[in-house]
Amino acid sequence: MDKKEFVEVLLYWYDTNQRILPWRESKDPYRIWVSEIMLQQTRVEAVKPYYERFIETLPDIKSLANAEEEVLMNLWQGLGYYNRVRNMQIAAKTMVEKFSGKFPSTYEEILSLKGIGEYTAGAVSSIAYGIPVPAVDGNVLRVFSRILENYDDILKQSTKKKITEYILDMMPKERAGDFNQAVMELGAMICIPNGAPLCKECPVASCCIARKKDLTDCIPVKKKKSQRRIEERFLFVMEYENEVAIIKRKNSGLLAGLWEFPNIQIEKNNENKEDVLKQSLEKFAVCDFDLVEEKEGKHIFSHIEWQLKAVKIRIKKKPKDKKLVFIKKNEIEDYAIPTAFKLGKELLDK
Ligand code: SF4
Repeated sequence: MDKKEFVEVLLYWYDTNQRILPWRESKDPYRIWVSEIMLQQTRVEAVKPYYERFIETLPDIKSLANAEEEVLMNLWQGLGYYNRVRNMQIAAKTMVEKFSGKFPSTYEEILSLKGIGEYTAGAVSSIAYGIPVPAVDGNVLRVFSRILENYDDILKQSTKKKITEYILDMMPKERAGDFNQAVMELGAMICIPNGAPLCKECPVASCCIARKKDLTDCIPVKKKKSQRRIEERFLFVMEYENEVAIIKRKNSGLLAGLWEFPNIQIEKNNENKEDVLKQSLEKFAVCDFDLVEEKEGKHIFSHIEWQLKAVKIRIKKKPKDKKLVFIKKNEIEDYAIPTAFKLGKELLDK
């Protein structure tokens, strides 16, 4: 089966087997966007009633941009990760201010909106506007890794890039949105994430190498063995007037008893870094802040590698978290802060 035939077979299967979902009834980019954001951490069946209530209450960009916080929170209650809806409102306001209240119509403009990553931008632009951009998430990576017998770690950006290019080359220009949805549907219903894939029902089984070689248990590869554990962390340079917050580390374990900038481990490869940032700061009881600057770096220990994202913020009120000690910025050198945190010092105005 060549690529053209693959596309035809997959689209035919999608046309005859797709689930009826409320957001598939419309090509309105606003509705598609709402559904994609809701589906980010929630199952399709659970999303349906939330989606219908949301669209009924806030049917368009303007109503979302002008909605009271309380209304938004009520509509989202039960879906969790409230920053998703907060970001949606910020994006809606941007659309009102910058795009005359309309949903932007290019992939790049859509990607520029708050809370929208490459996958969501690909999904909305292809489904609503027919722009041939792949929407590649974990499901799509699983399907194509198996079809191609690809052993690359699907958590790696380079794997995503390779598979995205492969898909781009086969995308039918006239049915880009349906093609993306067909692959998503295949990943959700047949080449399923948990448990054995339903290869007997798979429309593209004849060209799937993993099935032929009985390798579906080993592919996709999710994590390459690494001697060092990799941790992604936020490192906060939390400034209040001419002071900065530091924390004394525990008296045992890594860097015991030394001082550090407040930091926290985060989930790897999370598309929604903004949300994670806010949620991480909430753990230090910081809700109101201005983001000033960001810088990335890493620090390697013998057994762990910290991939650090240092974030400088200004706060207007000292948080109640008792671990935080505020010291004068120009006295930072009086405290034993290990080089693992040097990125924080680099961001500090003394
Ligand atoms: S044949 Fe099986 S493993 Fe291959 S894509 Fe279809 S469901 Fe997935």
